Amino acid sequence: MRQHIPAEYPAPFLLLIRELRRLPGIGPRSAERIALWLLQSRNADPLRLARTLNEATQLLKNCSLCGFFTTEDLCDICSNPDRKRHPLCVVETAHDIIAIERTGIFHGYYHVLGGKLSPLDGIGPDQLRIDLLLERVKSDHPEELILALSADVEGEATTHYLARLLAETGVSISRIAHGLPAGGGLEHADELTLSRALAGRLFSW
Ligand SMILES: [Zn+2]
Repeated sequence: MRQHIPAEYPAPFLLLIRELRRLPGIGPRSAERIALWLLQSRNADPLRLARTLNEATQLLKNCSLCGFFTTEDLCDICSNPDRKRHPLCVVETAHDIIAIERTGIFHGYYHVLGGKLSPLDGIGPDQLRIDLLLERVKSDHPEELILALSADVEGEATTHYLARLLAETGVSISRIAHGLPAGGGLEHADELTLSRALAGRLFSW
């Protein structure tokens, strides 16, 4: 008698599940559910999704100055001269810019570091956009620089590192501090908390 081998999805289906599992927060069961929905639901339009994803990856790039998303060389924020009359705010990710913009109280411009110092993960100053920040501060002479990094150990270490490094430029440096949850990144703060953190920033240097 031949051994019974349980049937499996065909290879292209398994490949789709494998790709979906690479998405953040998606486990094997969710990946399978999403794959089934994409291929079977009348409301799904997987080809449109594929097209949109393809276009987004082709059209979007990082602003050559601040690192935010853009379809041009410079993003809308860096192209707006009014922004430079206000403080320069340093954040870890492009997503943090959106979080701060949604508070509606900050009218300055930004610099995305692309992460925070984390020696254990092999992330040192050279892996972040720190050189570019120093160049920008020296050429723009912002009247104030706000360090809006997360309140965890790496965020604190990065804040201190930058404050020391930028001290030579003579720029006035402050940091957001009040109300941010310890250990939390900006993306976890609600708009009111973030507004208060920006408004009540500490002038530590
Ligand atoms: Zn920009």
